[in-house]
Formats: sequence, C-alpha cells, structure tokens
Amino acid sequence: MPSRGLENFLKENLEDLKSKGLYNEIDTLEGANGPIIKINGRELINLSSNNYLGLATDNRLIEACNEATKEYGVGAGAVRTINGTLKVHIELEEKLAKFKHTEAAIAYQSGFNCNMAAISAVMDKNDAILSDELNHASIIDGCRLSKAKIIRFNHADMDDLRAKAKEAAESGLYNKIMVITDGVFSMDGDIAKLPEIVEIAEEFDLITYVDDAHGSGVLGNGAGTVKHFGLSDKVDFQIGTLSKAIGVVGGYVAGKKDLIDWLKVRSRPFLFSTSLTPGAAAACIEAIDILSSSTELQEKLWENADYLKQGLKDIGFDIGNSETPITPVIIGDEVKTQAFSKRLNEEGVYAKSIVFPTVPRGTGRVRNMPTAAHTKEMLDQAITIYKKAGKELGII
Ligand SMILES: *Cc1c(COP(=O)(O)O)cnc(C)c1O
Repeated sequence: MPSRGLENFLKENLEDLKSKGLYNEIDTLEGANGPIIKINGRELINLSSNNYLGLATDNRLIEACNEATKEYGVGAGAVRTINGTLKVHIELEEKLAKFKHTEAAIAYQSGFNCNMAAISAVMDKNDAILSDELNHASIIDGCRLSKAKIIRFNHADMDDLRAKAKEAAESGLYNKIMVITDGVFSMDGDIAKLPEIVEIAEEFDLITYVDDAHGSGVLGNGAGTVKHFGLSDKVDFQIGTLSKAIGVVGGYVAGKKDLIDWLKVRSRPFLFSTSLTPGAAAACIEAIDILSSSTELQEKLWENADYLKQGLKDIGFDIGNSETPITPVIIGDEVKTQAFSKRLNEEGVYAKSIVFPTVPRGTGRVRNMPTAAHTKEMLDQAITIYKKAGKELGII
C-alpha cells in the first residue's frame, strides 16, 4: 500500500504547480541534439543547448567513444578506488590538467556531482563560504552539504564581497573562508570579476573556487575564464563540466596536486559512485585534443554569437549586457515571455523562456545559445522569425 501521506503530497503539489502554469512539460527530441532538432515530427532551429562547439555530434568524438567502448566495454565496472580507474580516466585527467594549466585534475560523473564532491571535501561546520547570490544550484547544494556558514553576497558586487569577507575574517569565528563564484553566469552571460575577487581573496586569505561550466571551451582560448584573466595560478579550485562545450558528460576539478590527492581520498561522489564510462572519457579526451590544437570552433562560435546578437539588436530587441555567446532577449513580463517563446516555437525556433524564480521578477527572457554548428542561414531564419513574433506581440 502506498502511503496516503505521499499520495496527498504529490497530488496537491502537482495540481498547485499546474494551476500556476509552473509545471514544466518536457519535450522529447527525436534524434540528436544538434543545431536543428526534431520534436513531434517538426524540425526546429535549436537555440537552447549548451553544446557550444557542436561537439556533441562530432564524428571524431563518436569514433573515439566507439573505439574505447570496444577496448574497455560500456561501463567502468566499479568506483574509481575499488577498480574502476581505467587508463582512459588517467589520460583524461592528465589532459584536463594540461588544458587548465594546473598541476593536476580529477574527473567526476557530472558537473553537478563535482560541486557536491569538492566543496564538502574541504569545508565543514567551522568554516564560512562567501557565495555569489546567482551561483548555480549545484554550488548552492554543495555549500549546504558542507555545513559551512553560507554568506551570500550581491551578484558581482565587489564592495559587498569585500565588506562581508572583512567581517567574516575579523570575526574570528571561522577556521577557513572560501569565496565561490560561477565563471560565467548563465542567465545573463556576464563574466565574474575574477581579478577583483582574487585581490579580495589575497587580502583576507580566502580559498578561491570558480565553477567555469559556461566559460570552458568558450573563453581564454578554450581554457576558460580563469585563463582569460591570466589567473591560472591564483585560483585554488577550477571546476569545469564535460557536458557543455566539451559535448559529452562529466565534470572535473583542476588545481594543485595536493588538492587533487585530497579529493581522491575524501570526496564522496568519487569514492561511492561508479566512474565515467570509458566511451565518455575517450570522447572527452578527443574534444580536448581538438580544442587544444585549433581555435577554429571557438572562432565560429563567437562569430555566430556576434551575428545573432547584432541581428536581434538591429530589429529592436533588448539583449541585455552579455559578454559571452549566451544571448538573452529580455521581454520583462512573465506571461508575455512565455507566449513569445511559444510563438517562436510555432514558427520554428526552439528557445526557452526563463522567468521568475529562475531570474528576478519582471526580467523574463528568452535565452538563446548560438553554437559553432549553426549556419548563417539558420541564424538568418531565426532572426526573421524573431522579427515576426516580436511584431505580433508588440515587443518591437
Ligand atoms: C551546468 C552547470 C553545472 C552542472 O554541470 P553538469 O555537467 O550538467 O552536471 C554546474 N555548474 C554550473 C555553473 C553549470 O552551469
């Protein structure tokens, strides 16, 4: 017999979400997640993936994945510490360290997992974490798991960070203090002010932690936000994901050898969850090789992003102040934002609406993620559709 308590809980809460229009119906893609996707038999220009460089469907990665699968099998068979560490995992970590200009790196099964792992392996209830208020959910959960005191600072507000760092440091209440930030904020496309964060960290002896999920493969010749600012030796934890620009799945921490050695003996998702599949690890290695040997895909990504941004701006949309390829089209009103995204979909553009509580009330937007795999024709078509739908709804 299922519990009546559970049944009532689910029924009430699901109904509540549905009545408020907050229940998310998930679309199924009938095929690969490329620049054109198929949903319910309809082809759409896809501006919603994090597949920045188009590597998710790159033949070189597919081949590397297939070869490793033939050699090692489909699964790693165990957690890393028991006997799930294969040569391909070591090779991946060596590549990642080189790619990030650090002494060492450790790979996890996802970026989310990585934040669960790394923060709580180092921080505990006698510590404090200064966290940007717009940090990713996995950072927030990782901080909570550590039981450290969480001190939120206003988004990208360096005066607020400095004041709170000073207060925490002078209070004498904490053993260690960490500052933690996204490298690139995914809702607006702005870049963390890392030079100032590092300066504040040096002043107050803070541990520095940058989650560069949206910066790796995009900024700093591919190496990410930290490299972009020339701070590779000044940031203790460089987190990345292998699921966005790298196109596969997984996450990693890059840093000093002692840090990585510690994570290998103390971070729980590493110790208690089976390692990346050999195929995924090999595909990631191939992606890093591609990124390290040529900037062609990044250049294409930025060219496409600039083209889309200019096109949308020229026809009168508010595209915010993004410093990266992430291109929000800010509509404001929540209901209108959702109606707009729906109209775009009907006309052939797949771009998701993002509204409160993911972003502040009154700043509803449709977020566009152009990739290196889009052609000019696709982007032109998308801009034409934006124009039509925008006029219809009185946005432009
Ligand atoms: C996407 C994202 C993650 C999660 O990465 P996955 O590999 O998809 O689990 C973690 N942190 C940030 C900042 C992200 O944007």
